[in-house]
Amino acid sequence: MPANLHAILSASSAERWLNCTAAPRYEEQFPETTSEYAEEGRLTHSICELKVLKKFTTAINQRTYTNRLNKLKKDTRYAEEMERTSDIYLEHLTEKAMGYDAPPLVNAEVKVDLTDYIPEGFGTCDCVMIGGDTLDITDYKHGKGVPVSAVNNPQMRLYALGALIKYEPFYGGMIKNVRTTIIQPRAMSEDDRITSETLSVAELKAWGESIKPIAQKAYSGFGEFKSGEHCRFCRGRAQCRARSETYTALEDFKDALLPTPENLAQVEQDGQDGIPTPAVLTNAEIGDLLTRGKSILAWYNDLENYALGAVLKGEDIPGWKAVAGRSNRTFTDQDAALASVIASGYDEALVYERKPKTLTALESLMGKKEFAEKIGAFIIKPPGKPTLAPASDKREPYNTATADFTGVTQEVLF
Ligand code: SF4
Repeated sequence: MPANLHAILSASSAERWLNCTAAPRYEEQFPETTSEYAEEGRLTHSICELKVLKKFTTAINQRTYTNRLNKLKKDTRYAEEMERTSDIYLEHLTEKAMGYDAPPLVNAEVKVDLTDYIPEGFGTCDCVMIGGDTLDITDYKHGKGVPVSAVNNPQMRLYALGALIKYEPFYGGMIKNVRTTIIQPRAMSEDDRITSETLSVAELKAWGESIKPIAQKAYSGFGEFKSGEHCRFCRGRAQCRARSETYTALEDFKDALLPTPENLAQVEQDGQDGIPTPAVLTNAEIGDLLTRGKSILAWYNDLENYALGAVLKGEDIPGWKAVAGRSNRTFTDQDAALASVIASGYDEALVYERKPKTLTALESLMGKKEFAEKIGAFIIKPPGKPTLAPASDKREPYNTATADFTGVTQEVLF
């Protein structure tokens, strides 16, 4: 295991360096930063680890568990929600462990060496479980805005390769399959909260071999820039010239205006050369423009964030300045203010609203089982409002007929 805690090629950034081999060396000039969200994620990971150790191992007893949990709860970032999401993680692992004929080996925060595949590479698996013929890696993700799938996920595959290197010598040829799972309890869509991929050991190792030359290139410093979705978490994304060139070549936008058969027929008839420019965009053109525009928007937001940070540090971004954003009035002491309203003669019922708890809060209050037994029959999940998504989105296309029918059924029932 290398002593350097900041490997040039990390498993968590594999999606990026596999696509843009120049990124790892380019990023070296930008300092590692953290965010409130990242720190919340780190704290929840510690709670998850503690729960796994207590449930599945003899590494800690009840007293140590309580002491360590209480210490974590003192962190100013601690939130009740972390208990709920870490419980979902633990529940998933418990169900999985119960699916084996004999108790599986379970371990948390397992450090793995990846140097067989990527120079100086190492990583940490949130949970490794070995049962039957399967090695199972589970990763907890605390984010909610960007869903991360385990399918085709290089970070998870690298963790799995590292775990194979660590455990295969003890289990011999017993391990035949590798399953990777990502639990993201706060993801907006239920479909994104638990995703898995299963590969045979041979498939996984073949994938590992296929990325070795890419990893060498990315490590060597002779990689090539290539922008795309993977730029999202690159430390230098706002200032990257290669990425900016992708979007500043606005001339390329004219390629989105495709000649349709009707347009071409018109051109032939008119005897003109070049691309026709009818007044109305076709649906094909709109689809292409939407795809191009989406990534431009992400890039523009990154530029804005960078520029605001630079201006606040006292740097000059010609043509721009920082101003105070909109703000709303707020109480300095809400309880005292409302007590004063009531003392002035207003009825408490007029001052406070009685609101039902959300489904999620009730589920956490009652526990999954009782929740399902007592109120499951009162719950439906109507289709969400139609929203535009790229064709690559893994959700089923919106079915207008089903949605209309659901609406009618609900009206009749309620
Ligand atoms: S911003 Fe994108 S193109 Fe630029 S170095 Fe990072 S990953 Fe590569």
